[in-house]
Amino acid sequence: MSRELEGDLVIVGAGTAGAYLGWRMGQKGYRVILIEKQQAGEPGSHIGIFHVDEIRFAQFEIPLPEGDELIAHYPEGRAWPPDGDEAKMVRYPFYVMEMPLFIERLQGYAANAGARILFGTEFTGLLLDKGRPVGIEACTAGEKLTIRAPLVVDASGVDGVVRVSLPDELGVETGPIDPRDFLYVILQYWDELAPDFPRGLNFYPFHKAFINPGYGEGAIVGIGQPEKLETASKVQEQFLEERFPGVGHRLVKKTWGRTPYRRPPFSLVADSFIVVGDAAFMTKPFSGEGVTSGFTACQIAAETAAAALKKGDLSREQLWPLNVRYFRDQGAKFAGLMAQLVVAAELPRDDVNYLFSRDVVFSSYDLEQMNRHFEVRMGPGRLLKTAAALLGGRLSGKLSRKGFTALLAAMKSAGAIQKHYERFPGNPVDFPLWKAQAKRLWGEV
Ligand SMILES: Cc1cc2nc3c(=O)[nH]c(=O)nc-3n(C[C@H](O)[C@H](O)[C@H](O)COP(=O)(O)OP(=O)(O)OC[C@H]3O[C@@H](n4cnc5c(N)ncnc54)[C@H](O)[C@@H]3O)c2cc1C
Repeated sequence: MSRELEGDLVIVGAGTAGAYLGWRMGQKGYRVILIEKQQAGEPGSHIGIFHVDEIRFAQFEIPLPEGDELIAHYPEGRAWPPDGDEAKMVRYPFYVMEMPLFIERLQGYAANAGARILFGTEFTGLLLDKGRPVGIEACTAGEKLTIRAPLVVDASGVDGVVRVSLPDELGVETGPIDPRDFLYVILQYWDELAPDFPRGLNFYPFHKAFINPGYGEGAIVGIGQPEKLETASKVQEQFLEERFPGVGHRLVKKTWGRTPYRRPPFSLVADSFIVVGDAAFMTKPFSGEGVTSGFTACQIAAETAAAALKKGDLSREQLWPLNVRYFRDQGAKFAGLMAQLVVAAELPRDDVNYLFSRDVVFSSYDLEQMNRHFEVRMGPGRLLKTAAALLGGRLSGKLSRKGFTALLAAMKSAGAIQKHYERFPGNPVDFPLWKAQAKRLWGEV
Protein backbone atom coordinates (compact mmCIF):
# COMPACT_ATOMS: atom_id res chain seq x y z
CA MET A 1 0.00 0.00 0.00
CA SER A 2 1.24 3.54 -0.66
CA ARG A 3 -0.26 6.98 -0.70
CA GLU A 4 0.86 10.44 -1.71
CA LEU A 5 0.45 13.90 -0.20
CA GLU A 6 1.55 17.31 -1.34
CA GLY A 7 2.39 20.50 0.58
CA ASP A 8 4.50 23.65 0.42
CA LEU A 9 6.84 22.29 3.05
CA VAL A 10 7.27 19.07 4.93
CA ILE A 11 8.78 19.19 8.42
CA VAL A 12 10.30 16.03 9.85
CA GLY A 13 9.82 15.99 13.63
CA ALA A 14 7.02 17.63 15.63
CA GLY A 15 9.03 18.32 18.80
CA THR A 16 9.43 21.89 20.02
CA ALA A 17 11.28 23.17 16.93
CA GLY A 18 9.16 21.43 14.28
CA ALA A 19 5.85 22.32 15.94
CA TYR A 20 6.88 25.96 16.41
CA LEU A 21 8.03 26.32 12.80
CA GLY A 22 4.89 24.53 11.56
CA TRP A 23 2.77 27.00 13.53
CA ARG A 24 4.60 29.99 12.09
CA MET A 25 4.40 28.73 8.49
CA GLY A 26 0.73 27.81 8.90
CA GLN A 27 0.02 31.34 10.12
CA LYS A 28 1.63 32.65 6.94
CA GLY A 29 -0.83 30.59 4.90
CA TYR A 30 1.48 27.84 3.64
CA ARG A 31 0.46 24.20 3.37
CA VAL A 32 2.51 22.55 6.13
CA ILE A 33 2.84 18.81 6.64
CA LEU A 34 4.53 17.76 9.87
CA ILE A 35 5.51 14.15 10.37
CA GLU A 36 6.25 12.71 13.80
CA LYS A 37 7.38 9.14 14.41
CA GLN A 38 5.94 9.04 17.94
CA GLN A 39 2.24 8.95 18.77
CA ALA A 40 0.33 12.05 19.90
CA GLY A 41 1.22 12.97 23.49
CA GLU A 42 4.53 11.09 23.46
CA PRO A 43 7.09 13.73 22.36
CA GLY A 44 8.91 15.17 25.36
CA SER A 45 7.69 12.46 27.75
CA HIS A 46 11.21 11.01 28.19
CA ILE A 47 12.20 14.36 29.74
CA GLY A 48 9.10 15.39 31.68
CA ILE A 49 9.92 18.59 33.52
CA PHE A 50 11.96 21.32 31.77
CA HIS A 51 12.64 25.07 32.03
CA VAL A 52 11.99 28.09 29.88
CA ASP A 53 13.31 31.59 30.57
CA GLU A 54 10.44 33.95 31.29
CA ILE A 55 11.60 36.58 28.79
CA ARG A 56 11.39 34.12 25.87
CA PHE A 57 7.58 33.80 25.93
CA ALA A 58 7.09 37.38 24.76
CA GLN A 59 10.02 37.13 22.35
CA PHE A 60 8.47 34.12 20.61
CA GLU A 61 4.85 35.24 21.08
CA ILE A 62 3.92 32.16 23.10
CA PRO A 63 1.27 32.59 25.81
CA LEU A 64 2.50 31.78 29.34
CA PRO A 65 1.87 28.23 30.58
CA GLU A 66 -1.17 27.39 32.70
CA GLY A 67 -2.86 24.39 34.31
CA ASP A 68 -1.02 21.05 34.40
CA GLU A 69 1.64 22.37 32.01
CA LEU A 70 2.83 24.85 34.63
CA ILE A 71 4.83 23.30 37.46
CA ALA A 72 6.16 26.51 39.01
CA HIS A 73 7.61 29.94 38.39
CA TYR A 74 10.92 30.92 39.98
CA PRO A 75 12.16 34.52 39.99
CA GLU A 76 15.75 33.54 40.76
CA GLY A 77 18.20 30.72 41.22
CA ARG A 78 21.50 30.08 42.95
CA ALA A 79 24.92 29.21 41.53
CA TRP A 80 27.25 27.19 43.74
CA PRO A 81 31.07 26.96 43.74
CA PRO A 82 32.83 23.57 43.50
CA ASP A 83 33.47 23.69 47.27
CA GLY A 84 31.91 25.66 50.06
CA ASP A 85 28.43 26.88 50.75
CA GLU A 86 28.36 30.46 49.54
CA ALA A 87 26.04 30.52 46.58
CA LYS A 88 25.52 33.45 44.23
CA MET A 89 22.03 34.64 43.42
CA VAL A 90 21.08 34.56 39.75
CA ARG A 91 18.22 37.00 39.36
CA TYR A 92 16.69 35.64 36.23
CA PRO A 93 13.14 34.24 36.16
CA PHE A 94 12.30 30.80 34.80
CA TYR A 95 9.15 28.81 34.24
CA VAL A 96 9.29 25.15 35.24
CA MET A 97 6.99 23.22 32.91
CA GLU A 98 5.76 19.85 31.73
CA MET A 99 7.35 19.23 28.33
CA PRO A 100 4.85 16.82 26.68
CA LEU A 101 2.01 19.26 27.45
CA PHE A 102 4.01 22.21 26.15
CA ILE A 103 4.73 20.34 22.90
CA GLU A 104 1.05 19.38 22.59
CA ARG A 105 0.14 23.05 22.98
CA LEU A 106 2.55 24.06 20.20
CA GLN A 107 1.25 21.24 17.99
CA GLY A 108 -2.27 22.53 18.69
CA TYR A 109 -1.27 26.04 17.57
CA ALA A 110 0.23 24.55 14.40
CA ALA A 111 -2.89 22.46 13.69
CA ASN A 112 -5.17 25.46 14.30
CA ALA A 113 -3.08 27.44 11.84
CA GLY A 114 -3.79 24.75 9.23
CA ALA A 115 -0.74 22.49 9.56
CA ARG A 116 -1.38 18.80 9.08
CA ILE A 117 0.35 16.65 11.71
CA LEU A 118 0.85 12.98 10.98
CA PHE A 119 1.74 11.04 14.14
CA GLY A 120 3.21 7.54 14.05
CA THR A 121 4.84 8.48 10.76
CA GLU A 122 8.57 7.88 10.34
CA PHE A 123 10.89 9.49 7.80
CA THR A 124 12.52 6.78 5.69
CA GLY A 125 14.28 8.73 2.93
CA LEU A 126 14.49 11.78 0.72
CA LEU A 127 12.80 12.14 -2.65
CA LEU A 128 15.37 13.62 -4.99
CA ASP A 129 15.12 15.06 -8.47
CA LYS A 130 18.45 15.80 -10.16
CA GLY A 131 20.12 15.58 -6.75
CA ARG A 132 17.79 18.11 -5.11
CA PRO A 133 15.10 17.33 -2.49
CA VAL A 134 11.52 17.41 -3.80
CA GLY A 135 9.92 15.71 -0.82
CA ILE A 136 10.30 12.72 1.46
CA GLU A 137 9.27 9.13 1.91
CA ALA A 138 7.83 7.93 5.17
CA CYS A 139 6.26 4.90 6.76
CA THR A 140 3.00 5.04 8.66
CA ALA A 141 1.32 1.96 10.15
CA GLY A 142 3.20 -0.27 7.73
CA GLU A 143 2.11 1.83 4.77
CA LYS A 144 4.48 3.76 2.51
CA LEU A 145 3.76 7.46 2.29
CA THR A 146 5.23 9.88 -0.26
CA ILE A 147 5.09 13.57 0.57
CA ARG A 148 5.99 15.99 -2.20
CA ALA A 149 7.00 19.51 -1.21
CA PRO A 150 9.44 22.09 -2.60
CA LEU A 151 10.95 22.58 0.88
CA VAL A 152 12.07 19.87 3.31
CA VAL A 153 12.85 20.84 6.92
CA ASP A 154 14.85 18.68 9.29
CA ALA A 155 13.59 19.20 12.86
CA SER A 156 14.14 15.59 13.87
CA GLY A 157 16.31 16.24 16.92
CA VAL A 158 19.84 15.10 17.73
CA ASP A 159 20.11 12.44 15.02
CA GLY A 160 19.25 14.86 12.19
CA VAL A 161 17.80 12.03 10.12
CA VAL A 162 17.21 14.15 7.02
CA ARG A 163 20.51 16.05 7.12
CA VAL A 164 22.52 12.82 7.26
CA SER A 165 20.71 11.48 4.19
CA LEU A 166 21.35 14.55 2.00
CA PRO A 167 23.65 14.13 -0.99
CA ASP A 168 27.09 15.60 -0.08
CA GLU A 169 27.05 17.85 -3.16
CA LEU A 170 24.31 20.00 -1.59
CA GLY A 171 26.91 21.58 0.70
CA VAL A 172 25.61 20.75 4.18
CA GLU A 173 27.76 18.50 6.39
CA THR A 174 26.15 15.07 6.36
CA GLY A 175 28.19 13.24 9.00
CA PRO A 176 26.15 11.89 11.93
CA ILE A 177 26.83 13.43 15.33
CA ASP A 178 29.68 11.71 17.15
CA PRO A 179 28.47 10.03 20.38
CA ARG A 180 31.23 11.98 22.20
CA ASP A 181 29.59 15.25 21.09
CA PHE A 182 26.53 14.83 23.29
CA LEU A 183 25.87 16.01 26.78
CA TYR A 184 24.35 12.98 28.47
CA VAL A 185 21.69 14.39 30.78
CA ILE A 186 20.49 12.27 33.71
CA LEU A 187 17.46 13.35 35.70
CA GLN A 188 16.65 11.76 39.05
CA TYR A 189 13.18 12.65 40.34
CA TRP A 190 13.30 12.70 44.14
CA ASP A 191 10.67 13.27 46.80
CA GLU A 192 10.39 12.89 50.59
CA LEU A 193 13.37 15.23 50.78
CA ALA A 194 15.41 15.96 53.89
CA PRO A 195 14.43 19.39 55.28
CA ASP A 196 17.85 20.94 54.59
CA PHE A 197 18.01 19.73 50.97
CA PRO A 198 18.19 22.70 48.52
CA ARG A 199 14.86 23.92 47.15
CA GLY A 200 14.24 26.05 44.04
CA LEU A 201 16.73 26.40 41.18
CA ASN A 202 20.32 25.48 42.00
CA PHE A 203 23.21 25.30 39.56
CA TYR A 204 26.56 23.64 40.20
CA PRO A 205 28.49 24.73 37.08
CA PHE A 206 31.77 23.03 38.03
CA HIS A 207 30.03 19.65 38.25
CA LYS A 208 27.59 20.48 35.41
CA ALA A 209 24.93 19.49 37.91
CA PHE A 210 21.69 21.06 39.04
CA ILE A 211 18.94 20.64 41.60
CA ASN A 212 15.63 21.96 40.36
CA PRO A 213 11.99 21.74 41.42
CA GLY A 214 10.22 18.47 40.65
CA TYR A 215 6.57 17.51 41.13
CA GLY A 216 4.87 18.73 44.30
CA GLU A 217 7.48 19.09 47.04
CA GLY A 218 10.00 17.00 45.12
CA ALA A 219 13.23 17.91 43.31
CA ILE A 220 15.05 16.94 40.15
CA VAL A 221 18.66 16.08 40.72
CA GLY A 222 20.29 16.39 37.33
CA ILE A 223 23.62 16.29 35.56
CA GLY A 224 24.83 16.88 32.01
CA GLN A 225 28.23 15.45 31.09
CA PRO A 226 29.96 14.93 27.76
CA GLU A 227 31.59 11.71 26.52
CA LYS A 228 29.43 8.83 27.77
CA LEU A 229 26.29 8.02 29.73
CA GLU A 230 28.43 5.99 32.17
CA THR A 231 30.64 9.06 32.79
CA ALA A 232 27.58 11.19 33.54
CA SER A 233 26.27 8.56 35.93
CA LYS A 234 29.62 8.29 37.74
CA VAL A 235 30.05 12.07 38.04
CA GLN A 236 26.51 12.36 39.38
CA GLU A 237 27.22 9.75 42.04
CA GLN A 238 30.46 11.52 43.01
CA PHE A 239 28.69 14.88 43.11
CA LEU A 240 25.95 13.56 45.40
CA GLU A 241 28.44 11.75 47.59
CA GLU A 242 30.52 14.89 47.95
CA ARG A 243 27.79 17.48 48.47
CA PHE A 244 24.94 15.49 49.98
CA PRO A 245 26.32 12.32 51.57
CA GLY A 246 23.56 10.06 52.84
CA VAL A 247 20.85 12.67 52.32
CA GLY A 248 17.35 11.34 52.90
CA HIS A 249 15.09 11.02 49.85
CA ARG A 250 12.97 8.63 47.84
CA LEU A 251 13.93 8.03 44.19
CA VAL A 252 10.70 8.31 42.21
CA LYS A 253 12.18 7.76 38.76
CA LYS A 254 15.38 8.13 36.80
CA THR A 255 15.47 9.17 33.17
CA TRP A 256 18.11 10.35 30.71
CA GLY A 257 18.52 11.92 27.31
CA ARG A 258 21.08 13.36 24.93
CA THR A 259 21.59 16.97 23.98
CA PRO A 260 24.13 18.15 21.40
CA TYR A 261 27.36 19.75 22.68
CA ARG A 262 29.18 20.85 19.55
CA ARG A 263 29.18 23.54 16.90
CA PRO A 264 26.31 23.58 14.37
CA PRO A 265 26.87 22.55 10.77
CA PHE A 266 28.57 25.43 8.94
CA SER A 267 25.50 25.84 6.71
CA LEU A 268 21.87 25.33 7.81
CA VAL A 269 20.52 25.47 4.27
CA ALA A 270 20.86 23.76 0.91
CA ASP A 271 18.68 23.77 -2.19
CA SER A 272 15.14 23.01 -0.91
CA PHE A 273 16.43 22.17 2.57
CA ILE A 274 16.62 23.74 6.04
CA VAL A 275 17.78 22.27 9.37
CA VAL A 276 16.75 23.66 12.79
CA GLY A 277 16.76 22.83 16.51
CA ASP A 278 18.73 19.95 17.98
CA ALA A 279 19.16 18.57 14.46
CA ALA A 280 21.36 21.65 13.88
CA PHE A 281 23.04 21.49 17.33
CA MET A 282 21.58 24.82 18.48
CA THR A 283 21.62 24.16 22.23
CA LYS A 284 22.95 26.78 24.65
CA PRO A 285 26.60 25.91 25.30
CA PHE A 286 26.40 26.87 28.99
CA SER A 287 23.38 24.74 29.90
CA GLY A 288 22.57 22.29 27.09
CA GLU A 289 19.04 23.76 26.91
CA GLY A 290 17.75 24.01 23.39
CA VAL A 291 14.05 24.79 23.26
CA THR A 292 14.09 28.56 22.88
CA SER A 293 17.49 28.76 21.19
CA GLY A 294 15.94 26.51 18.53
CA PHE A 295 12.98 28.91 18.27
CA THR A 296 15.40 31.71 17.35
CA ALA A 297 16.37 29.82 14.22
CA CYS A 298 12.76 28.77 13.54
CA GLN A 299 11.63 32.39 13.64
CA ILE A 300 14.25 33.37 11.06
CA ALA A 301 13.61 30.18 9.08
CA ALA A 302 9.89 31.00 8.82
CA GLU A 303 10.60 34.44 7.37
CA THR A 304 13.27 33.13 5.02
CA ALA A 305 11.20 30.17 3.83
CA ALA A 306 8.09 32.31 3.32
CA ALA A 307 10.03 34.80 1.18
CA ALA A 308 11.54 31.97 -0.89
CA LEU A 309 8.19 30.19 -1.34
CA LYS A 310 6.55 33.45 -2.38
CA LYS A 311 9.21 33.88 -5.02
CA GLY A 312 8.88 30.25 -6.10
CA ASP A 313 12.64 29.86 -5.71
CA LEU A 314 13.85 27.49 -2.97
CA SER A 315 17.48 27.60 -4.01
CA ARG A 316 20.32 27.72 -1.50
CA GLU A 317 20.85 31.38 -2.44
CA GLN A 318 17.25 32.29 -1.51
CA LEU A 319 17.46 30.37 1.79
CA TRP A 320 20.91 31.79 2.62
CA PRO A 321 19.55 34.66 4.82
CA LEU A 322 18.81 32.02 7.49
CA ASN A 323 22.56 31.31 7.73
CA VAL A 324 23.46 34.98 7.73
CA ARG A 325 20.94 36.07 10.35
CA TYR A 326 21.42 33.07 12.62
CA PHE A 327 25.21 32.87 12.57
CA ARG A 328 25.92 36.59 12.79
CA ASP A 329 23.92 36.83 16.02
CA GLN A 330 23.00 33.86 18.24
CA GLY A 331 25.33 31.52 16.32
CA ALA A 332 28.31 33.87 16.84
CA LYS A 333 27.61 34.24 20.55
CA PHE A 334 27.20 30.50 21.03
CA ALA A 335 30.43 29.86 19.09
CA GLY A 336 32.31 32.25 21.40
CA LEU A 337 30.77 30.72 24.52
CA MET A 338 31.49 27.20 23.36
CA ALA A 339 35.15 28.10 22.78
CA GLN A 340 35.41 29.53 26.29
CA LEU A 341 33.46 26.85 28.10
CA VAL A 342 35.41 23.97 26.62
CA VAL A 343 38.44 25.42 28.40
CA ALA A 344 36.58 26.44 31.58
CA ALA A 345 35.40 22.83 31.93
CA GLU A 346 39.03 21.67 32.11
CA LEU A 347 40.15 24.13 34.79
CA PRO A 348 41.45 22.59 38.01
CA ARG A 349 39.03 22.67 40.91
CA ASP A 350 41.11 25.06 43.05
CA ASP A 351 41.30 27.49 40.15
CA VAL A 352 37.52 27.46 39.77
CA ASN A 353 37.06 28.03 43.51
CA TYR A 354 39.40 31.04 43.31
CA LEU A 355 37.84 32.44 40.10
CA PHE A 356 34.35 31.93 41.51
CA SER A 357 35.26 33.78 44.73
CA ARG A 358 36.64 36.69 42.68
CA ASP A 359 33.61 36.79 40.35
CA VAL A 360 35.69 35.95 37.26
CA VAL A 361 33.62 32.88 36.42
CA PHE A 362 29.95 32.16 37.13
CA SER A 363 29.28 35.51 38.79
CA SER A 364 25.64 36.55 39.23
CA TYR A 365 26.23 39.17 36.55
CA ASP A 366 27.79 36.69 34.09
CA LEU A 367 25.05 34.11 34.55
CA GLU A 368 22.30 36.69 34.10
CA GLN A 369 24.00 38.15 31.04
CA MET A 370 24.63 34.71 29.54
CA ASN A 371 20.99 33.74 29.93
CA ARG A 372 19.66 37.06 28.71
CA HIS A 373 22.06 38.00 25.90
CA PHE A 374 24.13 34.83 25.38
CA GLU A 375 27.29 36.84 25.98
CA VAL A 376 28.90 38.72 28.81
CA ARG A 377 29.26 42.38 27.94
CA MET A 378 32.35 43.67 29.69
CA GLY A 379 32.79 47.38 30.20
CA PRO A 380 36.25 48.79 30.93
CA GLY A 381 35.63 48.59 34.70
CA ARG A 382 34.83 44.90 34.64
CA LEU A 383 37.68 44.16 32.23
CA LEU A 384 40.11 45.80 34.65
CA LYS A 385 38.61 43.91 37.59
CA THR A 386 38.96 40.62 35.72
CA ALA A 387 42.53 41.36 34.68
CA ALA A 388 43.40 42.29 38.29
CA ALA A 389 41.82 39.08 39.62
CA LEU A 390 43.71 36.95 37.08
CA LEU A 391 47.05 38.62 37.76
CA GLY A 392 46.45 38.70 41.52
CA GLY A 393 45.56 35.02 41.47
CA ARG A 394 48.69 34.15 39.54
CA LEU A 395 50.99 36.20 41.78
CA SER A 396 49.48 34.81 44.97
CA GLY A 397 49.57 31.25 43.61
CA LYS A 398 45.80 30.84 43.97
CA LEU A 399 45.49 30.48 40.22
CA SER A 400 47.66 27.82 38.59
CA ARG A 401 49.92 28.70 35.67
CA LYS A 402 47.98 26.13 33.59
CA GLY A 403 44.65 27.76 34.47
CA PHE A 404 45.96 31.26 33.86
CA THR A 405 47.37 30.54 30.38
CA ALA A 406 44.38 28.41 29.42
CA LEU A 407 41.98 31.21 30.37
CA LEU A 408 43.90 33.84 28.40
CA ALA A 409 44.08 31.55 25.38
CA ALA A 410 40.36 30.76 25.67
CA MET A 411 39.40 34.43 25.82
CA LYS A 412 41.51 35.12 22.75
CA SER A 413 40.19 32.23 20.67
CA ALA A 414 36.59 32.84 21.81
CA GLY A 415 36.84 36.45 20.70
CA ALA A 416 38.34 35.44 17.35
CA ILE A 417 35.71 32.78 16.67
CA GLN A 418 32.79 35.02 17.65
CA LYS A 419 34.07 37.78 15.36
CA HIS A 420 34.50 35.29 12.54
CA TYR A 421 30.86 34.18 12.84
CA GLU A 422 29.75 37.82 13.00
CA ARG A 423 31.32 38.13 9.54
CA PHE A 424 29.39 35.16 8.15
CA PRO A 425 29.35 35.67 4.35
CA GLY A 426 26.33 37.43 2.91
CA ASN A 427 26.26 35.06 -0.08
CA PRO A 428 27.27 31.47 -0.79
CA VAL A 429 30.10 32.52 -3.14
CA ASP A 430 32.29 33.64 -0.24
CA PHE A 431 31.31 30.67 1.93
CA PRO A 432 34.15 28.21 1.07
CA LEU A 433 36.84 30.68 2.23
CA TRP A 434 34.89 31.56 5.40
CA LYS A 435 34.37 27.87 6.15
CA ALA A 436 38.07 27.05 5.71
CA GLN A 437 38.95 29.82 8.17
CA ALA A 438 36.25 28.67 10.61
CA LYS A 439 37.62 25.12 10.51
CA ARG A 440 41.07 26.45 11.34
CA LEU A 441 39.70 28.47 14.26
CA TRP A 442 37.75 25.50 15.66
CA GLY A 443 40.89 23.40 15.26
CA GLU A 444 42.69 25.92 17.46
CA VAL A 445 39.94 25.70 20.09
C1 LIG B 1 17.08 15.32 29.97
C2 LIG B 1 16.98 16.59 29.18
C3 LIG B 1 16.53 17.75 29.79
C4 LIG B 1 16.41 18.94 29.05
N1 LIG B 1 15.96 20.06 29.67
C5 LIG B 1 15.81 21.20 28.96
C6 LIG B 1 15.31 22.38 29.56
O1 LIG B 1 15.03 22.41 30.77
N2 LIG B 1 15.14 23.49 28.79
C7 LIG B 1 15.48 23.50 27.47
O2 LIG B 1 15.33 24.55 26.79
N3 LIG B 1 15.99 22.39 26.88
C8 LIG B 1 16.15 21.25 27.57
N4 LIG B 1 16.65 20.14 26.97
C9 LIG B 1 16.99 20.20 25.54
C10 LIG B 1 15.70 20.18 24.73
O3 LIG B 1 14.95 19.06 25.09
C11 LIG B 1 16.03 20.13 23.23
O4 LIG B 1 17.02 21.08 22.91
C12 LIG B 1 14.78 20.41 22.42
O5 LIG B 1 13.74 19.56 22.79
C13 LIG B 1 15.08 20.25 20.94
O6 LIG B 1 13.89 20.31 20.22
P1 LIG B 1 13.82 19.72 18.75
O7 LIG B 1 12.42 19.92 18.31
O8 LIG B 1 14.92 20.25 17.93
O9 LIG B 1 14.13 18.17 18.91
P2 LIG B 1 13.23 17.08 19.64
O10 LIG B 1 12.48 17.66 20.79
O11 LIG B 1 14.13 15.92 19.89
O12 LIG B 1 12.14 16.71 18.55
C14 LIG B 1 12.46 15.95 17.42
C15 LIG B 1 11.24 15.13 17.05
O13 LIG B 1 11.53 14.45 15.84
C16 LIG B 1 10.98 13.16 15.93
N5 LIG B 1 11.70 12.28 15.00
C17 LIG B 1 12.97 11.82 15.11
N6 LIG B 1 13.28 11.00 14.09
C18 LIG B 1 12.18 10.98 13.29
C19 LIG B 1 11.88 10.30 12.09
N7 LIG B 1 12.76 9.47 11.50
N8 LIG B 1 10.65 10.48 11.52
C20 LIG B 1 9.74 11.31 12.13
N9 LIG B 1 9.96 11.94 13.30
C21 LIG B 1 11.18 11.80 13.86
C22 LIG B 1 11.17 12.78 17.38
O14 LIG B 1 10.27 11.75 17.75
C23 LIG B 1 10.91 14.08 18.10
O15 LIG B 1 9.59 14.23 18.53
C24 LIG B 1 16.79 18.95 27.67
C25 LIG B 1 17.24 17.80 27.06
C26 LIG B 1 17.35 16.62 27.80
C27 LIG B 1 17.84 15.38 27.11
